[in-house]
Amino acid sequence: MEEQIIEGRFDKIAEILAGKCSGKAVKIRGWVYRSRTSGGVCFLVLRDATGIVQCAVKKDSVDGQSFQDASEAYLESSILVEGSVRQDSRAPGGYEIAATKVRLIAKGEPFPIAKDQSTEFLLDMRHLWLRSQKLTAIMKARHKIVYYLREFLEKEGFWELAPPIITGAACEGGATLFELNYFGQKAYLTQSSQLYAEVFTTALEKVYVFAPSFRAEPSRTVRHLCEYWHLEPEMAFYNQKMNMELQERMIEYVAQKMAQNHADLLLFLGRSPEKLKAVRAPFRKITYHEAVEFAASKGANIKVGQDLGADEEAILTQEDEKPIFVTNFPSKIKAFYMREDPKNPGTVLNADMLAPEGHGEIIGGSERIWDYDELMRKIKENNLNPKDYEWYIDLRRYGSVPHSGFGLGIERLVKWMLNLDHIRDAIPFPRTINRGYP
Ligand code: ATP
Ligand code: MN
Repeated sequence: MEEQIIEGRFDKIAEILAGKCSGKAVKIRGWVYRSRTSGGVCFLVLRDATGIVQCAVKKDSVDGQSFQDASEAYLESSILVEGSVRQDSRAPGGYEIAATKVRLIAKGEPFPIAKDQSTEFLLDMRHLWLRSQKLTAIMKARHKIVYYLREFLEKEGFWELAPPIITGAACEGGATLFELNYFGQKAYLTQSSQLYAEVFTTALEKVYVFAPSFRAEPSRTVRHLCEYWHLEPEMAFYNQKMNMELQERMIEYVAQKMAQNHADLLLFLGRSPEKLKAVRAPFRKITYHEAVEFAASKGANIKVGQDLGADEEAILTQEDEKPIFVTNFPSKIKAFYMREDPKNPGTVLNADMLAPEGHGEIIGGSERIWDYDELMRKIKENNLNPKDYEWYIDLRRYGSVPHSGFGLGIERLVKWMLNLDHIRDAIPFPRTINRGYP
């Protein structure tokens, strides 16, 4: 059996559905997606990594074991089917395989997931539910989105470097740190790799890191995970204007590629490709002050000096069909490394990019402080210990240059591009305040 299912030539379901095997004999292996036996025919719907196809197993046309294996298979049993392909408008996808041979690879046990199960149950069964058509489509789309991000950065001349995950100090403030015991010393899972990305710019100028970031998010929202994938480009000799232009072009590039090349995936997930076609640079820009005034005028409960929340972000983008930038946040509510705007004292040269349709922030970026004295002042103002940041401060002692960068949450981007209700479906194994299993 093992040789039969490993060696030799096999066909992929997508090729059958594309009409490349019409009238031909095929051999496929996969899992039972659906099955029904009536009279002397067993209809098996088979799935592999590329799609699903129906197989008709007729008692009269196959050997005894083939019919027995086909009719005894459970949902998700693994199975081998040989047969010939014919066009059939009644079959899902328009093709059917008339089976000549069927062999169970492993029958296994009855599959625990049936229809109409609760979200919590499906999350407990995530290791099995990841085979579902919906999650499979999302993970394919996520793969493509990451691929196009990397492709864009490659074309722009960026280098990818690997940051450490275990770190000694906070990057985004202490409240959401996961602490760990590092041979008797305190260490933390990284919240952001930005400070290390800044190091890399001093060698390779245009760099990015793509790594998980960890945040002990205490609240339950539809857009916070405790472990998420963070794309963090950082560029030497870039000001904030160039930084925003790069972000716009990057998001436009990915949206256009997804709409052009993966309309099938988008449509399967109920997402109109037109929504992504509308994503063209430049994006609208408003300042934090304008944003607060606007949100308050629409009834949001926000005052100058407070951070924008999900409600405000939804209000700000309700008329937009593509993302917007909110710039110039008060320096008091932003991280210590952001450079003050010389033209707008008290505010920083930063921007959050907010996605439309209520999805909210997908990117946070800024021009970084590159002057030694300014950095020391901000470290003190933020009550941070300069000792913890010695190496970071060194970057301002030895050959400092103006530089900028940003952080994009991949799951936030996927959630928006696919219009998912919840961020947890944008990652295979979501980690949230009440879930670390499976
Ligand atoms: P928010 O205000 O939405 O919590 P933030 O200000 O904490 O975001 P940053 O620290 O600027 O976000 O992080 C950069 C990017 O990382 C965000 O724009 C977002 O895309 C993503 N991100 C931040 N926190 C999370 C999280 N808990 N889960 C998933 N993605 C996140
Ligand atoms: Mn946050």
